[in-house]
Amino acid sequence: MEPQNCVFCKIASGEIPSKKEYEDDEIFAFHDINPKAPIHVLVIPKKHIPRLVEVSEDDVEVLGRCQLVAAQVAKKLNIGDAFRVLTASGEAAGQSVFHTHYHIVGGWQETPEMEVKKEFP
Ligand code: AMP
Ligand code: ZN
Repeated sequence: MEPQNCVFCKIASGEIPSKKEYEDDEIFAFHDINPKAPIHVLVIPKKHIPRLVEVSEDDVEVLGRCQLVAAQVAKKLNIGDAFRVLTASGEAAGQSVFHTHYHIVGGWQETPEMEVKKEFP
């Protein structure tokens, strides 16, 4: 998947609308369109890294900062005490969008009927 055809590159550039939670020069965070938990946000590097297995030394800083943004977003959305950060690399592992992303999921305690979803993915 080339960057010009990538849905997450288009979200990061604003070409495709999203419910944005955070943006800086290198990172973008937005709500998942099909949430698997009461709070479900995706944090992405703006750089098109198709799969985590393709990461390079040049990406270490931005991917580390994605975790800082994950923590900041979790606190902002009041799930700072209980959230998961998940990523899949490769189709057989469940990756469906080939632009590396971290799922931030949480908020189960406010929505007991979704407790089962705690096992996501
Ligand atoms: P994964 O299956 O781990 O690759 O996760 C991809 C995620 O992207 C899924 O949870 C989708 O619901 C989500 N997704 C796909 N397209 C969009 C979109 N246009 N806006 C927000 N989330 C999306
Ligand atoms: Zn991309």
